[in-house]
Amino acid sequence: MKPRLFTPGPTPVPEETLLELARPVTYHRSAEAKAVLAEVTEDLKYVFQTAHPVFTLTCSGTGGMEAAVANTLAAGDKAILLTAGRWGERWQGVLKAFGVETVAVKVDYGKAVTPEMLDQALGQHPDAKAVFATLSETSTGVGHDIEAFGKLVAKTDALLILDGISGLGAMECRVDAWGVDVCVTGSQKALMLPPGLAFVSASPKAWRRIDALPPRGFYLDLRRYRKSLADSDTPFTPANTLIRAQRASLKRIRAEGIENLWARHARIAAACRAGVKAMGLELFAERPNSALTVITVPAGVDGSGTLKKLEKQHGFKLADGQDSMKGKIWRLSHMGYADAFDVLGALAALELVLIEGGFKLEAGAGVAAFQKACAAGK
Ligand SMILES: *Cc1c(COP(=O)(O)O)cnc(C)c1O
Repeated sequence: MKPRLFTPGPTPVPEETLLELARPVTYHRSAEAKAVLAEVTEDLKYVFQTAHPVFTLTCSGTGGMEAAVANTLAAGDKAILLTAGRWGERWQGVLKAFGVETVAVKVDYGKAVTPEMLDQALGQHPDAKAVFATLSETSTGVGHDIEAFGKLVAKTDALLILDGISGLGAMECRVDAWGVDVCVTGSQKALMLPPGLAFVSASPKAWRRIDALPPRGFYLDLRRYRKSLADSDTPFTPANTLIRAQRASLKRIRAEGIENLWARHARIAAACRAGVKAMGLELFAERPNSALTVITVPAGVDGSGTLKKLEKQHGFKLADGQDSMKGKIWRLSHMGYADAFDVLGALAALELVLIEGGFKLEAGAGVAAFQKACAAGK
């Protein structure tokens, strides 16, 4: 059987990137390694849509989130946290670990935080030093209106700090134009690499804050990364084989063009939603994003059991809900190296497994709706 990965991280990796990973290990303090990092940094700036350097950290996405908090806030500082799911809660955990006083603007799973909610929180807490947000809330499939958040935060002294993990490289995100001060992403979501790298951007407004604070930590001190990157280098031994492979995946994004990439993800996501609805299923996210589709498990269906069957019988690996959402939702990723026919296959397999389980559904209903949406979206 052919294994097919549809989890919202890790995601499938393109063949040319896998070939890079098969090459011999090289020394990380060499002219070649510097040239690779310089190229990757330029391509990351393109993906982030920023004119400022993007730092490559050897850690998973959460390490990037920790760097964002540790470098921009002192213990006792106040921050506004916009939280709509498990990844908003991850911000909360990091903020707590660093002694930041957090004002949480929280919505139920499946809902999105609105700009009005942020506006109100900023009015109530003019002393907030930062606003923490999530582009794609991967635990629920919700996407946030970061452009609107940015306009509100730009009028204040607060920094807008964004978890772009899973959203960046799948849905529109313009770091500079939208006023995102710190943006974090990880390699194993839309950037088409195995897990292991995090990427962090910082605006001039963020740097003024960072430079005014004493360091809180060593490995994630962004000043060290800035100093090294001026010489196309890293302060510590980087996962240089991953960086070299990231170059290959970023070239794929460059070749497609970021706006074409956003449009492709939006088209596939819309077709997937049409297919899901035509199968008589409901979408979980009220404001769905283009990185993944989250489906509510219908009453009477064993959510986790269905996913196990999909994997065991047909090789399709989708993700279950996390923690309290386990068994209640299915998460189908279409970010990164996934095309329309990959997603169509996943819907076809889900149809089959549901029909076999006795769920009332016309075979091909979702597939047909997906095809029609694709044809209409051209
Ligand atoms: C995957 C993910 C994370 C966690 O990243 P790790 O690489 O697992 O540390 C954080 N935020 C969002 C939105 C994610 O999708």
